[in-house]
Amino acid sequence: MISVALDGPAGAGKSTLAKRVAKHFNFIYVDTGALYRSIGLFTQRNNVASKDLTKVTELLPLIKLEMKYDNDGIQRMFLNGEDVTDDIRLPEVSTYASDVSAMLPVRDFLLSMQQNMAKKYNVIMDGRDIGTVVLPNADLKIFITASPETRAKRRFIELKEKDIDTTFEEVLSEMIKRDKNDSERDIAPLKAAEDAIILDTTNLDFEQSFEALCKLVSDIKW
Ligand code: C5P
Repeated sequence: MISVALDGPAGAGKSTLAKRVAKHFNFIYVDTGALYRSIGLFTQRNNVASKDLTKVTELLPLIKLEMKYDNDGIQRMFLNGEDVTDDIRLPEVSTYASDVSAMLPVRDFLLSMQQNMAKKYNVIMDGRDIGTVVLPNADLKIFITASPETRAKRRFIELKEKDIDTTFEEVLSEMIKRDKNDSERDIAPLKAAEDAIILDTTNLDFEQSFEALCKLVSDIKW
């Protein structure tokens, strides 16, 4: 099985790029952020504070997560049997996801699920710690990044297209806060693996980033 680890900060374009690359090479695209978002959503729905380690840990045995794929290879996320693919994208869920993802019991809870996907399928898996923790032996590790302003602009356009009411300033400040949260946490912080290839997409458009990624995947020794 071939595995490609794709890490990087929020809004770097990981998921859009990974989806296209997965389709191109007939791989499964695994969006691991959706797992943390689902736990964040469950925490929010249960009125548990997102930084309350004890209470969030108590919720974990009540959570059953499943990733299913439709005919186009698009991942749908199920939380206790309910399709939450759209609900987990709401901006307020991002902060819950970021907070619960800093907790070791949450990360342990999700680890084997992610690793099992890579045992079964050729995957391109996106997240924050895929190259460092989840798939340390991945065939290819890429760390995608871009300036915070560029990333916020992309995310803002995406949210507007979905009619989500927000401002650029709100998106930028939420993004900077989440970057800080994700990179400064003790457990599995956001950082490039030592053997990762850094791809900065600040000055690349989508097609250029896609081409760059495809070239890296084609260079894997199969
Ligand atoms: O990628 P996405 O923005 O959907 O992820 C939501 C949050 O989940 C991130 O801010 C990050 O805190 C957390 N996450 C993580 N490890 C991953 C994927 C996501 O900590 N592998």
